[in-house]
Amino acid sequence: MKFNDYKYERPEMKEVKAKAQEILKTMEKAESREAFLESMDEFIKLRLYVESMFQLVSIRHSIDTRDEFYDKESDYVDMAMPELQDLVTSFYHVILDTPYKGDVEEKYGKHLLNLAELSIKAFKPEIIEDMQEENKLSSEYSKLVASASILFEGEERNLSGLVPFMENPDRAVRKAAYEAYSGFFRDHEKEFDRIYDELVKVRHQMARKLGYENYVQMSYDGLLRTEYGPEEVRTYREAILNHIVPLVVKLRERQANRLGLDELKYYDEAIEFTTGNATPKGSPEWIIDNGRTMYEELSKETKEFFDFMVEHELLDLVTKKGKQAGGYCTYIPDFKSPFIFSNFNGTSGDIDVLTHEAGHAFQVFSSRHYEVPEYSFPTYEACEIHSMSMEFFTWPWMENFFKEETDKYKFSHLQGTLLFLPYGVTVDEFQHFVYENPEATPEERKLKWREIEKKYLPLKNYEDNDFYNRGGFWFKQLHIFTAPFYYIDYTLAQVCALQYFIRSRNEGKKAWDDYVALCKEGGSKPFLELVELAGLKNPFLPETIPSILPDIEAYLDSVDDTKL
Ligand SMILES: [Zn+2]
Repeated sequence: MKFNDYKYERPEMKEVKAKAQEILKTMEKAESREAFLESMDEFIKLRLYVESMFQLVSIRHSIDTRDEFYDKESDYVDMAMPELQDLVTSFYHVILDTPYKGDVEEKYGKHLLNLAELSIKAFKPEIIEDMQEENKLSSEYSKLVASASILFEGEERNLSGLVPFMENPDRAVRKAAYEAYSGFFRDHEKEFDRIYDELVKVRHQMARKLGYENYVQMSYDGLLRTEYGPEEVRTYREAILNHIVPLVVKLRERQANRLGLDELKYYDEAIEFTTGNATPKGSPEWIIDNGRTMYEELSKETKEFFDFMVEHELLDLVTKKGKQAGGYCTYIPDFKSPFIFSNFNGTSGDIDVLTHEAGHAFQVFSSRHYEVPEYSFPTYEACEIHSMSMEFFTWPWMENFFKEETDKYKFSHLQGTLLFLPYGVTVDEFQHFVYENPEATPEERKLKWREIEKKYLPLKNYEDNDFYNRGGFWFKQLHIFTAPFYYIDYTLAQVCALQYFIRSRNEGKKAWDDYVALCKEGGSKPFLELVELAGLKNPFLPETIPSILPDIEAYLDSVDDTKL
């Protein structure tokens, strides 16, 4: 069966609710372990069915936003989703309160119960109104950013329309584009300040209602972090400061040297080579064909996976009219099918889709034997290990895509992962300050941002950009507004992926086998347990980061980047 034949029918929420409540009652009244587990499976099956239908709607709507049928269904899903969540919360209460709790643990593992417990802890009906307010403010932020219409080089452009100019080889054009970009945020400074201030206040209020001291721990619980807290994260940021920041300083100096500049200004950072960035050397069809060969040669597991994706037409990669922007990987449980969506645009990002998003898809395909929806994907920091590591495991095939620019691609890829880490922890430290000090004023927040930035990004030179010098850079960072405390997860996963980078070069097959074992676990365990069984070092331990640097530096030093 192909993706287009996957049958959609609207799950009528009235019926779903009635059925679910009936099942939950049977679970509560169950008089034997068997009876309880049987009803529990029935609930899981019902949920998987509803979620599969919702996935079909969201995928088909994103492929063609002009399709009226799925546009309408998409509105229905938006409305139905909170009701489904409500049922799942009731389900969590039942499995936590049942005398058969031990049997649930035996059959599904302790992790499910831990997840249920945290989900309940970070939610009570009393905060529903606050959550709605939070959603409203988040959308207000997104709308404000999307409303940008900036006259630049004779045309009205949105923020992403400025990006090509921000990467222009002509320094004066770049600078002007950056000024136009930051100018939008400066011109709306009061609005951004107000939206964020209200977000912070409403989040703090929710935390207090749930009995937390402030929003920090509530957010950690909401992100289902069962094994570590703010203290471990603080130590981790320190390791980045002590070991990665000096390396990044050196990389930035090399970059300035490559570009023939005395020092990098903020508008130079995105330019890596005077000769432009590496690009794939063929059409989208050629890229996909090459991808198939790559996964065929990489391993028998990836061959089975990619053949499945192609045969069932689960890849929608090329830009088309009516298609939503961006890219993602998702999973349709009832069809045991991952799905990859993207908009190829002729940059190296097209190859990243085939490695990064395919890494996510490979994981969810490898762990499709788990029936519990909670185990489809792990928590975010673990999720990105699969994708970021696949980017490295596929290095030996990059030549097929980039030809004579392969070395440039690899250098840029590896250095990019390192350059990201200090920024990632800047975003994180800032948010800890914000939510630990909910009464701080917008001015105090900006001052603090600039202070933290100076620590982790010491070479950042905003020249005469007053707004950035006053600490306004973070206004553009969506996660700070809409997904608090999530950002650090990308950096944690990267520190794990870099270990696979080294191991894949030194150990070959053994590293790959560990990676496959990790993917097969899906989300059945928490982050650090997954890290351990994947043969990786815990990124929170102070010795982990220094231990991976020698190999990485050796690679970077072996490249004569002035010739790229
Ligand atoms: Zn990802």
